[in-house]
Amino acid sequence: MKFLSMIMRELRKGAFNPPQTNPWPPAIYYLPRNYGGEPYDMPLIGLETRGCSWFLSGGCTMCNFGGQGSYVSPYFLIAQASFGLKVCRGRPYLQIAPMGSFFDPNEVPLVARNNILSLVRNSGYVKSFETEARVDHVREEDIKISMEILNDIELAIGVGLESSNSIVRELIVNKGTRQELYLNFFELSKKIGFLSNAHVLLKPAFLTEREAVEDAISSIRWVIDNGGTYAILMTSNLRKFTLNYWLWERGLYKLPMLWSLLEVLRRLDSSYRKRVVLAGFLSNETLLKTAENCSKCTNYIMSKIKMFQYTRDENFLKEAWDHECDCKEEWRRRMEEDKGDLLDRIIFGYKYISEQILGKRWWEENRKWVEKEVEEVINTGRSN
Ligand code: SF4
Ligand SMILES: [Zn+2]
Repeated sequence: MKFLSMIMRELRKGAFNPPQTNPWPPAIYYLPRNYGGEPYDMPLIGLETRGCSWFLSGGCTMCNFGGQGSYVSPYFLIAQASFGLKVCRGRPYLQIAPMGSFFDPNEVPLVARNNILSLVRNSGYVKSFETEARVDHVREEDIKISMEILNDIELAIGVGLESSNSIVRELIVNKGTRQELYLNFFELSKKIGFLSNAHVLLKPAFLTEREAVEDAISSIRWVIDNGGTYAILMTSNLRKFTLNYWLWERGLYKLPMLWSLLEVLRRLDSSYRKRVVLAGFLSNETLLKTAENCSKCTNYIMSKIKMFQYTRDENFLKEAWDHECDCKEEWRRRMEEDKGDLLDRIIFGYKYISEQILGKRWWEENRKWVEKEVEEVINTGRSN
């Protein structure tokens, strides 16, 4: 098992007792979007599944999409979707997303998936349907069948990339995916005609503020340059049972400042910026903390960001960026912070985490294979 998966399993202990999510009624929340040129609250109906399979084996370091942790009947998932669609009747654009991956038959059994898609088609009002999946579950045959069921309803699939840099994605986020899978995903979307969106994480653990900004910018460009429809910029937040939270509690992780989010958008050319959707401030999971500036300007900046989401008018971003506040100085200081070589930091972080969680002896006895694991990712990471 991968080192980070082992650590995540330790950190998840207690996550399902009781489960962190309520299966009924299904969670529905609304995301600010622009649809058809108008401000729009997009409903997101959360399917309370048994949980993301990757999470159940450890999972990504910033995520707590664990779900119920045990068997959930496919008919119960269908009932959740049916209820959600009733609540959201009349909405032409909506998302139904499980805890992890809509195309993982272990999480959303085939009978549930096909029946949920039929409910969407038969709703009579949905025109554009979005869901989420792990990229390794996106198979041509499954998507073709789903598109046939949806008939003329547009399909968008969002997958978690987090970072186009394999070192960040594997050694920090523990995504467990390969870069070529994303390229195949973008390719497939062009071939059979669905929208392919990829989530990019702004500020994974271990990265400085500047590294996080640079990583998000290059990841967004990578998505768009390689044929992704939209990059979903997920500004990091804090949730229980995650490594980010564990580090944050010990003063070893900070959420990004909102200035960093604005900096990412500002530095992208307009052709890329147009294809970025913002996320990370709302969830059907309890968020303990979201990104912020100081108490004087956070509300103001957030209102501009939200208005940008609703209208896509870039003047809102400019107004936010031009706002004078003392905390911008603090942000500039953070942007200049130099914490040395990232790989040294990762190894040092691994050592600290394992000593705290698994004990000093564990690290002494196991460090060799952990360092080998790091080396392998670096070698493959540098080649793509
Ligand atoms: S980020 Fe996605 S793949 Fe990773 S554990 Fe969470 S739901 Fe699963
Ligand atoms: Zn401020």
